[in-house]
Amino acid sequence: MRSPDAEVAVVGLGAFGAASLWQLAEAGVSVIGLDRYEPGHGYGSSHGGTRMFRTACLEHPDLVPLARRSGQLWQELSARAGETLFAPTGGVLIGPRDGHVVAGTLAAARQHDLAVEVWDAATLGARLPRHAGLAAHHVAVWEPAAGLIPPEAAVRAAVRVAAELGAQVRTGTRVLTIELVDGGAFVHTTTDRIAVRQVVVAAGAWLPGLVPGLAVRVLRVPITWFRPADPSATGYDLAAVPVFIRELDDGACLWGHGAHTGGELKLGLEDVGTAMRTMDPDGDDRRVTPADWRELTDRLAVALPGLAPEPSRAAVCMYPLTPDRQFLLGRPGRDPRLVVAGGDSGHGFKHAAGVGEVVADLVRRRAPRVPVAFMHPDRW
Ligand SMILES: Cc1cc2nc3c(=O)[nH]c(=O)nc-3n(C[C@H](O)[C@H](O)[C@H](O)COP(=O)(O)OP(=O)(O)OC[C@H]3O[C@@H](n4cnc5c(N)ncnc54)[C@H](O)[C@@H]3O)c2cc1C
Repeated sequence: MRSPDAEVAVVGLGAFGAASLWQLAEAGVSVIGLDRYEPGHGYGSSHGGTRMFRTACLEHPDLVPLARRSGQLWQELSARAGETLFAPTGGVLIGPRDGHVVAGTLAAARQHDLAVEVWDAATLGARLPRHAGLAAHHVAVWEPAAGLIPPEAAVRAAVRVAAELGAQVRTGTRVLTIELVDGGAFVHTTTDRIAVRQVVVAAGAWLPGLVPGLAVRVLRVPITWFRPADPSATGYDLAAVPVFIRELDDGACLWGHGAHTGGELKLGLEDVGTAMRTMDPDGDDRRVTPADWRELTDRLAVALPGLAPEPSRAAVCMYPLTPDRQFLLGRPGRDPRLVVAGGDSGHGFKHAAGVGEVVADLVRRRAPRVPVAFMHPDRW
């Protein structure tokens, strides 16, 4: 290979890629970051104004160290960027006592000795009375460390700080292919061929198009914002409805939080319905229609009543979903030229800062300081 343009190229500057760029630059690695759009754009998986941060990760107890480390790194990024990138709100995980939300959260909290409180349905009803339709077998786990991260601002901050540390940033640059060659790789863009020793591919929903053979399917996920039906109603703000995930008795999961800015609650639905269908990230399935929120509003009428029957705003986001809903983080085929960071499966933003640090460790052939084996891209 000819002499490289940089040691590493990071393809994709969304949550995972921006954090990887920052952490590589922080470690003194010569790095080029590439994205087809501008940081903080609304076409991938990192838009919509807010992302929940939790450390009692119901998705896998081994995610807890990554979440904790990410929490520290988000604070570090806030300080470096001179911006507030974390709003502490506390968060509540609600559901049937033996359901996956409560059981998963408690398993993670117990394994890592996290500070959480367990409330019975009566206590939840008294503390957060907007959550209605509760039954005696419902339980809530209150996590004081939970909060909100502004994703667009966090991505922009990571890219900006990386650039200040010496990273090259090329936005508006679409990568067409990645060619692995002896001793490195060529990253082919629409205008250029960039020679590097290693490539980090953090292309979100577009990852399978750049690194074939990865187990990812892309789901279309509507995001919706609601106002109270009575415009003069109070008690729908973040204090009254802090970040939550709520498993309902039919197995569907509501998620969201109270009014943060602009008087709107952000609410969504998981694990149910036709709105979450597979989509082509380059296709045109981004128009949001009433069919996208009907199943949500039917359930809100019982679980969080008092809201307008139609959302005030809506958008489409994407989950690149893996079969076990864990990320893809590591070297496919143990290839020394390639690292992938993706397959976020809808719960990755909180971890992105820590993922960036893991990527920087992998690139420098150091052992990551948090467990990552369960996220290896070759695990199937
Ligand atoms: C509705 C919704 C709610 C969510 N809520 C939460 C939450 O509360 N908490 C949480 O932790 N997580 C949450 N998530 C998940 C979280 O947002 C994702 O894990 C995270 O945004 C994934 O980031 P990413 O970097 O993998 O992908 P992206 O942010 O999509 O980044 C991929 C980047 O790659 C670029 N790219 C792709 N192809 C190319 C190419 N060929 N050339 C150049 N650039 C390219 C894209 O332009 C994009 O910028 C949610 C996700 C959704 C959709």
